[in-house]
Amino acid sequence: MLSKKSVRSGAAANVGDGDGPLQFRVCPSRAGYYIGTYCGDCGPLTRESEYYARRRDAELDLRNQTVRWRH
Ligand SMILES: [Zn+2]
Repeated sequence: MLSKKSVRSGAAANVGDGDGPLQFRVCPSRAGYYIGTYCGDCGPLTRESEYYARRRDAELDLRNQTVRWRH
């Protein structure tokens, strides 16, 4: 299991949940797009950001490390 602290410090790229690599992804949902952790084996795991109306905005924040993390 991954702590939120390690996720938010950017360590997630090199940490797995036990069965595959973990990474941040922009994920679609009914409420909007969000940035969450994604396991290559299991699929989406957690939502870590606020919702975005547009995928492009979420992708930009992820790239620029200016993500609006959820509270
Ligand atoms: Zn997994």
